[in-house]
Amino acid sequence: MAPPSFDLRSDTVTRPTAAMRAAMAAAPTGDDAWGDDALVASLEARVAALLGKPAGLWLPTGTLANQLALSLQSRRHTTVACNPGAHLQVHEDASAAALAGVQVMPLGSRWGYDAQMLEALLDEERCGWPELAVVWLENTLGEGGGVLWPLHDDAARPGVSSLRTLGQLAHAHGKAVHLDGARLWNAHVATGTPMSSFGAVADTVAVCLSKGLGAPAGSVLCGERELLVRARRLKHAYGGAMRQAPAMLAAAGHHALDHHVARLADDHRRAARLAAAIADLPHWEVVPPQTNLVLARVRPPLRFAEWLCAPLRAAGVLCFPNIAREVRLAVHLDLDDAAIDEVVARIRTTLGDDPERFVPRAGAAGTGLTS
Ligand SMILES: *Cc1c(COP(=O)(O)O)cnc(C)c1O
Repeated sequence: MAPPSFDLRSDTVTRPTAAMRAAMAAAPTGDDAWGDDALVASLEARVAALLGKPAGLWLPTGTLANQLALSLQSRRHTTVACNPGAHLQVHEDASAAALAGVQVMPLGSRWGYDAQMLEALLDEERCGWPELAVVWLENTLGEGGGVLWPLHDDAARPGVSSLRTLGQLAHAHGKAVHLDGARLWNAHVATGTPMSSFGAVADTVAVCLSKGLGAPAGSVLCGERELLVRARRLKHAYGGAMRQAPAMLAAAGHHALDHHVARLADDHRRAARLAAAIADLPHWEVVPPQTNLVLARVRPPLRFAEWLCAPLRAAGVLCFPNIAREVRLAVHLDLDDAAIDEVVARIRTTLGDDPERFVPRAGAAGTGLTS
């Protein structure tokens, strides 16, 4: 029998637990397109209340939640400001342009941007650049390795203003603010900040139930009631009204909120332990994680993270480059302490102490870039 593999590619790979499956199986269903699904409605109200918003809309994916938020708060030929590497910019297949007709204006770095950068963009808008419709925030920052975007200025970093400052600046200029909170639960647990304090900085907030919370699918978009009435229509237009299915997924969502929020602290603790246990390897520089994602930047002579990810996957440690030069290891619900120990052991055995060994020989086929 092949040894078990450990899947650290993402926190989306979790399987519903037996208890979650039982909740799903028992869910009374109704037609979501007719709005007569009580379980979906109660989940929407529950998440909206957590975020301090009047209304919520359950959606099959976070991508759809983001796209609806963008489409409904912009017009074609306007722009959205976001950090480079924002999910909106790099993981939604150019849908900002293709669906909303909106151009992405990257600001700052993959760890966020600051008020001066946003002000400079607002100045250019006054001097003839296209209209800025939406100021886009993300917490935690996925491409940044689960880094927290601070809520208050006392925790702000160079080049990154607080969510609150940026939200206030945007609103002072009449701009809509969206918070992509796919992993906002992680930020909530890591900092002890109430979800509603994050919610207060933005007009719309999207949260995923399918990442660290472990539901098989589902996101909730929260905001003003009138906007969400229009969002419900657009969800239907985009083919997202899934009839009887959302009830079962909403049952999973309720179960996740009941049982899988506080335990995110275990993921954060395990990520820190994993990072510390592989930080001395000469192959990479490990970034101490703030939440559940561990990034390891390969060092010369290694050029591509895939040169390490491929042998690690062969050894049953499923992982993937975050960007070309970074290995990303995502810690989640399906990895307990024993699994982390085994992952550390396999990484150390597989990588050894000689990074040179993983540099493809000159003339060898391929760049090692494909997976
Ligand atoms: C995963 C993710 C999304 C989208 O979620 P899907 O359900 O995979 O479409 C949006 N934003 C961020 C930051 C994410 O990590």
